[in-house]
Amino acid sequence: MKKKVVIIGGGIAGLSSAYYLQKQIKEKKLPIEVELIEASDRLGGKIKTIKKDGFLIEAGPDSFLGRKKSASRLAKEVALDDKLVYNSSGQSFVLVNGKLHPMPGGAIMGVPTKMVPFAFSELFSPSGKARAAMDILLPKSKTTGDQSLGQFFRRRLGSEVVENLIEPLLSGIYAGDIDQLSLMSTFPQFYTIEQKYRSLIFGIKKTMPKQPKQQKMAKRTGMFQTLTTGLESLVEAIEEKLDVIKVLKGLKVENINKNEEDSYTLTLSNGEKIEADSVIVSTPHASLPKMFLNYTLFDDFKVMPSTSVATVAMAFPKSSIIKDIDGTGFVVSRNNDYTITACTWTHKKWPHTVPEGYALLRCYVGKAGKEEIVDESDETIKQVVLKDLYKTMAIDAEPYFTVVSRWKNAMPQYTVGHKQRMKTIKLEMEKQLPGVYLAGGSFEGLGIPDCIDQAEKAVSNVLLYLKNI
Ligand SMILES: Cc1cc2nc3c(=O)[nH]c(=O)nc-3n(C[C@H](O)[C@H](O)[C@H](O)COP(=O)(O)OP(=O)(O)OC[C@H]3O[C@@H](n4cnc5c(N)ncnc54)[C@H](O)[C@@H]3O)c2cc1C
Repeated sequence: MKKKVVIIGGGIAGLSSAYYLQKQIKEKKLPIEVELIEASDRLGGKIKTIKKDGFLIEAGPDSFLGRKKSASRLAKEVALDDKLVYNSSGQSFVLVNGKLHPMPGGAIMGVPTKMVPFAFSELFSPSGKARAAMDILLPKSKTTGDQSLGQFFRRRLGSEVVENLIEPLLSGIYAGDIDQLSLMSTFPQFYTIEQKYRSLIFGIKKTMPKQPKQQKMAKRTGMFQTLTTGLESLVEAIEEKLDVIKVLKGLKVENINKNEEDSYTLTLSNGEKIEADSVIVSTPHASLPKMFLNYTLFDDFKVMPSTSVATVAMAFPKSSIIKDIDGTGFVVSRNNDYTITACTWTHKKWPHTVPEGYALLRCYVGKAGKEEIVDESDETIKQVVLKDLYKTMAIDAEPYFTVVSRWKNAMPQYTVGHKQRMKTIKLEMEKQLPGVYLAGGSFEGLGIPDCIDQAEKAVSNVLLYLKNI
């Protein structure tokens, strides 16, 4: 008899689970049927591309880290090889005390690895630089468990480097509070480096892959990849390939219960009930305690925070940007009276997204502790963003258009202890909910490639589980 797998959630984690499960079913002629259930009327979750007047606007993520291979591999599998591009590299900036400062060369996530650009940077005072240099002498920490990113980096490099460089960079990625975010769930490699080499500065230098000479001399491309047809084209291409998987949209899974014989009954928002032998849950964490109402193992997810952000894309005629800055964008430190937290000069970073003669600026608003702005009207958000942009950039015109995309409670916060909590939850799942697996941005990495990696792992777990029942 055929086994049944249900995938809950049609974001990138759920879609890649469906894709890789279908691939295995076809290759190995497995007697398994699969249903994917998505609450909204579209697939993709946080991946959403808006096409407007010749512009390509990413409402959510705009790219993924190229060195994590699973996303480009998946794009190639669904025949999008020729659409993959790296970003144009260029100078990026940090806004500190109302002034844009170039990011010092050689800084890896804010940790200096080249002495000369760091010594000449106006981002730090002489005492701030001297304090950061103490990293070379300081002993390794005795902390063995988790700690916050803020605690770790302040101890090694001092508060000035943290406030002016590391905090704006990291909170740009996680929209979080670095004094709450977990080191072990975000950048465990920095902990490993400290333990092995004592000094972060020396350790990172030592562990950085050496660039071949020719590559050093050639014009360098960036670290990020996207698709020239927009990230949502990955979602569409996967959906098109799902020919043996039943995809249900506009239906929410409201409840899941384990039956006596280790199968599961899922109740959908239309009242329908579905039986499953195995389930991949790829929804945001907040949905889990609601769906598994009769279980307490997901209680930690009830208090796991998520922050709300909005992206604000504004198009201008290029000629109206009077003070043009050569670079790809900037992040904003807390030492400023600004509401935007970051701005990408999208026309420079991703030239394919903009018609000739136009500039596209994509700003972020909202981060931990400063989320109210996301609930304001489009017009208010537009005015607030424009005020900030005018302070930095001297723009001589109103935007040609503005697109505000709100992401409520969309950035899961891996706070201190997250890794250990996930370990406990997974162990409990093995005992209480055999055959149920998690994959997605709330759990073990929120970047797109991390979500795909988790999906692949969930698929192999499902297949192993079904083989043994
Ligand atoms: C503004 C923004 C910018 C980002 N930028 C980047 C970036 O540049 N690069 C990068 O790598 N990552 C970025 N990220 C992170 C990345 O986009 C996400 O972590 C990733 O897309 C999450 O995918 P997912 O499949 O886990 O979840 P989601 O995309 O959230 O999908 C989950 C799906 O589950 C559905 N669902 C929820 N509950 C139920 C239910 N009960 N029944 C059925 N369906 C349900 C939802 O409707 C949703 O479609 C960004 C995120 C945001 C918000």
